[in-house]
Amino acid sequence: MDHSPFLIRPRQKVSLQNHDPRFHGDFKDKGAAKKRLEKDIVRLRELQDVFYAADSHSLLIILQAMDAAGKDGVIKHVMSGLNPQGCRVTSFRAPSHRELDHDYLWRCKLSLPERGQIGIFNRSYYEEVLVVRVHPELLAAQKLPKIPEGDALWTRRYREINNFEKYLTDNGTRILKFFLHLSREEQKERFLDRITRREKNWKFSLSDVRERQHWDAYQRAYEEMLSHTSTRHAPWYVILADRKWFTRIAIANIIVKTLESLRLRYPTLSEPSAHSSRKPEKRCSRRVDRPCFPAQDPARTSGMLQGAPLNEPPFLQPSRRSLHSLSSALHPGHAFSA
Ligand code: ATP
Ligand code: MG
Repeated sequence: MDHSPFLIRPRQKVSLQNHDPRFHGDFKDKGAAKKRLEKDIVRLRELQDVFYAADSHSLLIILQAMDAAGKDGVIKHVMSGLNPQGCRVTSFRAPSHRELDHDYLWRCKLSLPERGQIGIFNRSYYEEVLVVRVHPELLAAQKLPKIPEGDALWTRRYREINNFEKYLTDNGTRILKFFLHLSREEQKERFLDRITRREKNWKFSLSDVRERQHWDAYQRAYEEMLSHTSTRHAPWYVILADRKWFTRIAIANIIVKTLESLRLRYPTLSEPSAHSSRKPEKRCSRRVDRPCFPAQDPARTSGMLQGAPLNEPPFLQPSRRSLHSLSSALHPGHAFSA
């Protein structure tokens, strides 16, 4: 699939009128798209397995949209094949009192994915230049030392967000940002659906209908945000959202291609650094009361398997010996073949 029609280039001036929400590429209908989605979900599962094992990067997926554009459906369908151990979804609603006592990135920082993990943000810190821009009265609760005049606050926030994302990228997080672009007419249909279909009633919210009255202001806020915060390292994709099936195949395919581009592979026992082993480190990282050490020392592991007493603290053990001893502990009498 060609992603270039959806990709916003750095400093590109975005006009949402140029992106037709009904676009569905070469796919004639839902049936044609289904096969493609199934294929990409299988591929995503394979890639996530390597991603988790490699433990070198994290992936942050940000979903932003007008109400009822299909964020929940993307999470449900596209991520359906993922191993839940390696992914986490965080939804951001209006900030609590505690969250308002911090800077606006704080709550999102708490939910950033660790290495090997895929983090999905259902809304994000981008709300700070969207809903807050459309309703500047929300700023009063944010206890900012000073609120600059005019557009200066939004320009400052774009800069802060770009710097934050650059920092994350430099430190191993890949960031993908999707704006699900829904038409006003289709939103109306989906709201009506939420009223008329019993199994969808729970999704209906009067505040969503109220926000609809600010449609044009939101579209402008989205255009400005997309124009200022799509960067080489953290690009925005405008995904056409009037046809849910198209939204899902486009997003799935972009995630697949991004993970493939990392060219990750499974670590092996013979890799040069014992620090690359994932499980002991993961355990260490959560246990702040113990020193972190290269626990997957083959010689030490071998000793443990053979029941040899280990009197010395592990960090005094030789850090690297031959894998042969580990092999013989597992298969006595068999030579190790890597
Ligand atoms: P749906 O698309 O199904 O309507 P949703 O993502 O809108 O789902 P809701 O629980 O309906 O989920 O709404 C979350 C609300 O929280 C949104 O209206 C959003 O604008 C608001 N919100 C999120 N972050 C902030 C923020 N920083 N400041 C103020 N409001 C926020
Ligand atoms: Mg909503």
